[in-house]
Amino acid sequence: MSKTKNSPLERVNPEILDINSYSVPIIECSIRLDGNESPFETNPEILSRISKKIASIELNRYPDPESTELKKIISEKFNFPRDGLLIGNGSDELIQMLIETVTGKSGVVLVPSPTFSMYRLTSLILNNKVIEADLDNNFDLDTDDILNKITQYDPDLLFFASPNNPTGNAFSPEKIIKVIEATAGVVVVDEAYFDYYGKTFIPLIQKYNNLVVLRTLSKIGFAAIRLGVLFGSEEIVGQVNKTRLPYNINTLSQKIAEIVLSNEELLKENYSKITGERERIFAELNKLKDIKVCPSDANFFLIKVPDADYCFNEMTDKDILVRNLNGSAKLKGCIRVTIGTNEENNAFLDVISAISFS
Ligand code: PMP
Repeated sequence: MSKTKNSPLERVNPEILDINSYSVPIIECSIRLDGNESPFETNPEILSRISKKIASIELNRYPDPESTELKKIISEKFNFPRDGLLIGNGSDELIQMLIETVTGKSGVVLVPSPTFSMYRLTSLILNNKVIEADLDNNFDLDTDDILNKITQYDPDLLFFASPNNPTGNAFSPEKIIKVIEATAGVVVVDEAYFDYYGKTFIPLIQKYNNLVVLRTLSKIGFAAIRLGVLFGSEEIVGQVNKTRLPYNINTLSQKIAEIVLSNEELLKENYSKITGERERIFAELNKLKDIKVCPSDANFFLIKVPDADYCFNEMTDKDILVRNLNGSAKLKGCIRVTIGTNEENNAFLDVISAISFS
């Protein structure tokens, strides 16, 4: 008699069974202010160079496994050693590679709360323990709490997105430095929103060999190509590189990134349009009673409203997609709104001003 077959789920890793996947709801709206993307069409000069380049790509060949030309461009642009660079399929992949590599002693990853959810999710998938440190009332780091947790748990890896997602503010640089100096673990400063903020930790890598910085092209108009860059000491990068899958960056992304990073001055106008709009939206939202808006150093705002689900539905009814964060306990009543074009922002401001919460 054959043995009854058990469910294949019995063979699935328990840490996978326990978590919910990272899901981005697919809702069709003409105005998309949900993904912290750039709202602008690609600069015509950059687009024309990309079109010419694409015609010469040998699609039958594997990509350059080392992204040699792209690394050369980044190394020169940032005056940073080539061997301290790693290119990822988005910074998401670099986050995953860091967690795979730098969890060898305590197996603990420390993250502030709230922050970008992939740090936690990927750590759990890879069977690590996640310790959260609540942000203070201004959404800045609570260094006393973090230092206590460093003493208690000795985290291998600590992630600080600055500016932070979803709160929008940058953390005080001196607080991050205090943590880098206090821990023997590796501190990752995720500068995904650097271009809307302007201050970087990259030069400090020379001073602190436990510091790693992440950048991405996703927030400045090239989310489609999935391109992230890790800056770190050659010592750490050499190890993280071992977890990289062969050919992780496809040829189209490499070539497009080379063109973008060699012509970045053409994008600067877009960055200042966004920061200009940021001031205007902040002032306008502050005029509305019932709404609390957090000051932002990024290309989005965290906004607390009396009823986030209602606000979200009113927005989608008017063809505007924002991010509803109401499901998360710490972000009850919050929505996150990406800064769009002037017209898109006007449409958003018109709708939110007209919502009656009472
Ligand atoms: N870090 C932060 C702080 C982010 O907000 C995001 C995207 N939401 C990422 C990393 C992921 O970026 P990428 O598209 O390069 O994977």
